[in-house]
Amino acid sequence: DPVNENYVRKVKNCIFSVAFPTPFKSKVRLVAVSKEVLEDVLDLSLSVSETDDFIQLVSGGKIVFGSIPLAHRYGGHQFGIWADQLGDGRAHLIGIYMNRQGEKWELQLKGSGRTPYSRNGDGRAVLRSSVREFLCSEAMHHLGIPTSRAASLVVSDDEVWRDQFYNGNITKERGAVVLRVAKSWFRIGSLEILAHYGELDLLRTLLDFIIHEYFPSVNVRGPNRYVDFFSIVVSEVAQLIALWMSVGFAHGVCNTDNFSLLSITIDYGPFGFMEAYNPDFVPNTSDNERRYKIGNQANIGMFNLNKLLQVLNLLFDPMQKQLAAQMLDGYPALYYTRFRKLFKAKLGLLGEGEGDDELIAFLLHLMEKTEADFTMTFRQLSEITESQLQELNISQQFWALKRVSEHELFPTWVSQYLLRLKSNMNDTDSERRKRMTTVNPRYVLKNWMAESAIQKAERNDFSEVRLLQQVLQRPFQRNPAAETAGYASPAPSWSKGLRVSCSS
Ligand code: AMP
Ligand code: MG
Ligand code: MG
Repeated sequence: DPVNENYVRKVKNCIFSVAFPTPFKSKVRLVAVSKEVLEDVLDLSLSVSETDDFIQLVSGGKIVFGSIPLAHRYGGHQFGIWADQLGDGRAHLIGIYMNRQGEKWELQLKGSGRTPYSRNGDGRAVLRSSVREFLCSEAMHHLGIPTSRAASLVVSDDEVWRDQFYNGNITKERGAVVLRVAKSWFRIGSLEILAHYGELDLLRTLLDFIIHEYFPSVNVRGPNRYVDFFSIVVSEVAQLIALWMSVGFAHGVCNTDNFSLLSITIDYGPFGFMEAYNPDFVPNTSDNERRYKIGNQANIGMFNLNKLLQVLNLLFDPMQKQLAAQMLDGYPALYYTRFRKLFKAKLGLLGEGEGDDELIAFLLHLMEKTEADFTMTFRQLSEITESQLQELNISQQFWALKRVSEHELFPTWVSQYLLRLKSNMNDTDSERRKRMTTVNPRYVLKNWMAESAIQKAERNDFSEVRLLQQVLQRPFQRNPAAETAGYASPAPSWSKGLRVSCSS
């Protein structure tokens, strides 16, 4: 029923509520757009982004004729505890677009006002967190990691008040909106809420829709379709988290409502790229129990899959329950297989070597002890020649690796590594380096980079947001502007002690 139902309440027996964006009252400025998303996903030319119509559309100022904007009802386990109804409290699904390639994309505004799911929230998102989401989701895509994408970012002069939890003060910030796109925004929590309230017909309807739309290999009429669906999700969650680990990405809030059923990375909040290698790295300063530390993400994947299994168990017969439980038991092995494959590629190893796992673990151990930069150690291993390594004379140009080389066991690791590289069939040192530079990025969105761009953006200087956007589009390619900005250099001293809160 297309009437505005924007009041906050407990919603029953539905998957979406009609909810209209709330236009900003003040002037809206375009911070950045993704040319690629506009052109390749939405069939729009870049020049469109200069029009008033575009700004209106992507800020929630008006909606496309005929569109009925929706907010999605979902629940979830937050920090391990059932949180009941959550839902799109500040996001609006403004349409589904089928592009020239026949792909369907869901367009969602984030920060566009209150919905029935806003609880105590104001429905808004501030500029700093929106810059982070815009930049990081695009960066992840270009790292080859499944993710939602960002088409545009606008900022208004509307006041939004936030507590960043570091000085006891509430500060005035500005409301921003990201237009983000994904094949689907359904999450584990989308199913959990239906299961929790015993809405099993709706649960089946949603599952069948999701399987029909996004799981073409599953027979949507087959009696085992939910088992087959689960087995794919188990496998893809393992793959996604292994990919996160391979670039040192900590999501920060791996609640079941932030875990996509399509296993794409969604909901960029207090995420972080690990700098000094540390399995206990926690990007979110509010995560006191360190539940979502980087080294625990694979376990959390298991926890979240188990929550999905509990939902599906409501629909399974005893045989199916058993099958699905076995699939979940297979998750750790799936994860380690993916992890090993990715890290072997990061080290340039071909084929199978007896001690490959140890070689990887040994290096990570040295990195941990020396607090070497994760991204740059692997990158510099991709750039250094075998003979330079052999001599153990690591120049300052390889600053992260040099750090690792301060460990007394570094020579031992190097000799094992060089020996293992010799067993690569039909390989040369330049081939190895070429291969490794295509999997070990030179640039990732470290916190201090985002922070530097945000500080300028707060003054309406969007140049660094755009620079980062451009650099992170080719994270494996050396970029002169990025080098000048220091994006491949040690973190600047002002950035020590930078914190990210969940306030957004
Ligand atoms: P998140 O931690 O970003 O996954 O958000 C958890 C829940 O809080 C979701 O239901 C969000 O829509 C909701 N939420 C977060 N911030 C706000 C806000 N400013 N206004 C309304 N709802 C919000
Ligand atoms: Mg969320
Ligand atoms: Mg969030």
